[in-house]
Amino acid sequence: MSKAIPQLINGEWRESRAREFIEVTDPATQEVLALAPKATAEEIEAAIASAKAAFLSWREVPVPERARLMLRYQHLLKEHHDELAQLLAKETGKTFADAKGDVWRGIEVVEQAANIASLMMGETTENVARDIDTASWIQPLGVCTGITPFNFPAMIPLWMFPLAIAAGNSFILKPSEQDPMTPNRLAELFIEAGAPPGVLQVLHGGREVVDSLLTHPDIRAISFVGSVPVGQHIYRTGTAHLKRVQAFAGAKNHMVILPDANKDQVLSNLVGASCGAAGQRCMAISVAVFVGESKQWIDELRAQMAELRPGPWTDQHAAFGPLISQQAKQRVLRLIAEGKAEGAECLLDGSQCKVEGYPNGNWLGPTLFRGVTTKMGLYREEIFGPVLVCMEVDTLDEAIELVNASPYGNGTSIFTRSGGAARHYQHAVEVGQVGINVPVPVPLPFFSFTGWKGSFYGDLHAYGKQGVRFYTETKTVTSRWFDDSPVTGPNMTIQLK
Ligand code: NAD
Repeated sequence: MSKAIPQLINGEWRESRAREFIEVTDPATQEVLALAPKATAEEIEAAIASAKAAFLSWREVPVPERARLMLRYQHLLKEHHDELAQLLAKETGKTFADAKGDVWRGIEVVEQAANIASLMMGETTENVARDIDTASWIQPLGVCTGITPFNFPAMIPLWMFPLAIAAGNSFILKPSEQDPMTPNRLAELFIEAGAPPGVLQVLHGGREVVDSLLTHPDIRAISFVGSVPVGQHIYRTGTAHLKRVQAFAGAKNHMVILPDANKDQVLSNLVGASCGAAGQRCMAISVAVFVGESKQWIDELRAQMAELRPGPWTDQHAAFGPLISQQAKQRVLRLIAEGKAEGAECLLDGSQCKVEGYPNGNWLGPTLFRGVTTKMGLYREEIFGPVLVCMEVDTLDEAIELVNASPYGNGTSIFTRSGGAARHYQHAVEVGQVGINVPVPVPLPFFSFTGWKGSFYGDLHAYGKQGVRFYTETKTVTSRWFDDSPVTGPNMTIQLK
């Protein structure tokens, strides 16, 4: 039986005619779970043409009806929550509990999309001039596209297509080639919820497929989430082709620890935020900045991290799973080795990690460094593994200077009992998402996901009100209705009142 997964084009699941396929592997065993096709030029054209046609009728569907589709979809996603999490865990290696969280965070955005009617309300002012009114209307853009990363194969596609489609657009999803089965299942459920043919298309593949979408004249907007170099490429190419682009990219998130903080909370939150999902989260804490005497806690941190045990998704006691691929593991091993060679002190080394019964898994144990400087690769590069680096400074202002000098600005947190210190940090720090005694401050979907600096290229962020603005255009209508008074002659000047 072929393991090739189908693509969704014009409302039908079609086998691809691709000659090239990408292996989707179980990260704990290397078993080939599926083959993702590299969509052909004809398939890409067919998907875009179908999305273009579907947009014309979908935009006319009344807003409450579009919202009801999202209500049905939310219901189905909840009904299939465990099944989706199981599929997701298989192809990503995430623990089952973490996989459920990935799906859940996506469901919350679908709930937000069900509220689309109030999010698409414009503004009105009566009598902007004598007998003249102005109103603004929010209208959809057309064909939008989303390019998603491997690390949240449910949540991130669900950041995109439900909101775009609820707003009246059609959408082409190009999921990560490393875990495309979960996004396919999400799309199947969307069809089951009653989405008309063509409103959502799913194409598979890598760079070539993305580049065709980025440059195609019929695509209006591009949402991207992934690494920094690819994000820059997407933003540059998409905008050069006059498209609206939002590109969420990589990160290096600092947790600042003041000596007055609750030590037990600091350590437990730090362990979870750095090693959860094997550190493969864009909001993972990868740098712990110990201020003053809090550095005494590093030994205890090491002891708690050493307790963590990775394992396959079927192991309920595993703290986290394997890395997504052998290539990803090799990259992290290289950074660990370079860090040691550059003089960082490795307090805990997960390089040799093994998991019984799974000799081929991409395992990496928790790893902890101290004595790291800003010049080292360990600090400069996004590691994307269960690796935490400790830095030590004397004052809160030094910590702020360190965080602000980082080119990234996705998330940060501060742990303290001082309201004044937390207020100073939240105000002065140049990072888009700040947690106060909250390690991973991902906003819920009625806010927006607001990364800054090198972690985001674009103007309007994901989900919430900004997400709706990203997928829509504002039309301003100025109107006047005449009575039968006689016309006084042509008006040749700008009216002053
Ligand atoms: P990636 O950049 O390798 O891939 C992301 C998507 O881009 C995939 O669909 C892939 O097929 C496509 N792609 C890859 N190379 C391409 C190229 N050269 N040209 C065009 N398209 C290309 O990212 P990844 O490894 O899948 O995901 C991990 C990265 O995503 C990390 O850097 C992480 O920080 C980031 N991320 C960021 C956020 C955020 O909100 N800022 C959220 C999740 C993940």
